[in-house]
Amino acid sequence: MTKIKVQDKWNRPLQDLRISVIDRCNFRCIYCMPKEIFGKDYAFLPKDQLLSFDEIESLVKVFAELGVNKIRLTGGEPLLRRNLADLIKRINQIDGINDVALTTNGVLLVRQAQQLKDAGLDRINVSLDALDDTVFKAINDSGVSSSAVIKGIDAAEEAGLTVKINMVVEKGVNDNHVLEMASYFKKRGITLRFIEFMDVGTSNGWDFSKVVTKKQLFEQLTTKFELEPVDAAYFGEVAKRYRYKGTNTEIGFITSVSESFCSSCTRARLAADGKFYTCLFASAGFDLRKLVRDGKNHEQLSEEVQTIWGNRADRYSDERTEETVKNRKKIEMSYIGG
Ligand code: SAM
Ligand code: SF4
Ligand code: SF4
Repeated sequence: MTKIKVQDKWNRPLQDLRISVIDRCNFRCIYCMPKEIFGKDYAFLPKDQLLSFDEIESLVKVFAELGVNKIRLTGGEPLLRRNLADLIKRINQIDGINDVALTTNGVLLVRQAQQLKDAGLDRINVSLDALDDTVFKAINDSGVSSSAVIKGIDAAEEAGLTVKINMVVEKGVNDNHVLEMASYFKKRGITLRFIEFMDVGTSNGWDFSKVVTKKQLFEQLTTKFELEPVDAAYFGEVAKRYRYKGTNTEIGFITSVSESFCSSCTRARLAADGKFYTCLFASAGFDLRKLVRDGKNHEQLSEEVQTIWGNRADRYSDERTEETVKNRKKIEMSYIGG
C-alpha cells in the first residue's frame, strides 16, 4: 500500500484513530453518563444506526492509507458490542495497522479476555477510579464492586494482554484514594494513568474547581514514592510518563486540562454512528456513514477524509476558558468514546 501523507492546518499528521463501537454502557459513571440524563428512557442508537463491521473495516482501510497505524476501540462499553473479537481480527489484518487497543470498564473481561487476545488485541486499558468499594460504587452508580474490575484485570493479564489502568481523578470524590491505587498497582507492576477530569459533553457538571491537576497529583505521590521521568516513546504520545525509581513500573498523567497537548494531537475519532470528529471537544462531526451507505468507493471516502483533516484547526484544550466550558456545544463522552 502506498501511503498518502495528510497534515492539518497546524501540520499535525493523522496517526491514530479511536473508534466507538457502541454508545451504550453497563455503568453510569457520574463524570460520564450521569443517571439524571442517561436514565431508563434515554434513547441510545438503534442497531441499524451503528456502523456495521463491514463499514468499520472499509473506513479503517481508508484511514490506514492516510497514516493511521494505531486503532483503539472504545464506547460506551465496547465489550457490550456483540462479536467484538471478530472486528478485532478484521482490523488486525489491515495493511498498515500495527497496534490494536481497547478501553473498557473491565467487568466483561473475565468472559472475553482470551478471545480478544486470540483475535489479535495487543493492549487493553481498564478504567478503575478507586479500590475502595464505597467510593467506586458512588462513581460508577451501578452497584459494581471494584473486585469485579480486578477480576477482569486478572483475566486480561492471564490471557497475555498488556494492561494499563485509567483513573479519572475528581476533587472531593476520589482524590484521597490516589496513593492507595498507586501502591496497589505498583505492587502488581501495572502502569496506572491519572486522567484529569475533563469538560467533555455538557452533562457532567464539570468546572475547574473539580479538577485535580498533574502538579497536585505529583505532589501527593512524591510524599510516598520516588519518581523519575521517562521519555516519550513517539511524537504525539499523550501521557506524561514516570517510573518508580529502581523499578520498571510506570505511572502516567493525562494532563488535558492543566498542560494541554493540542500541538501534537494526531488523533481522529469515529463515533458509533459513523460521525468523524477531529477533536474530542468538537461540536459537530462529518457523516461518513452516509457516504459509505450512499455507495462511495475507497477513493471517494479517502478524498473526503483528506479534505476534512486538511481543514482541521482544532486546539480546544489550548483555548479552554470559562466561556468555552459554558457555551460551547460538545459531544458526550460515551458517544464519542474518550
Ligand atoms: N467504557 C469504557 C471505559 O470506561 O473505559 C470506555 C469508554 S470511556 C468514555 C473512555 C475513558 O474515558 C475512560 O477511561 C473514562 O474513565 C474516561 N472518561 C470518561 N469521562 C471522562 C471525563 N469527563 N474526564 C476524563 N475522562 C473521562
Ligand atoms: Fe461507561 Fe466508560 Fe462512561 Fe463509565 S466512563 S459510564 S464505564 S462509558
Ligand atoms: Fe486533540 Fe482536541 Fe484534545 Fe486538543 S482538545 S488534544 S485538538 S482532541
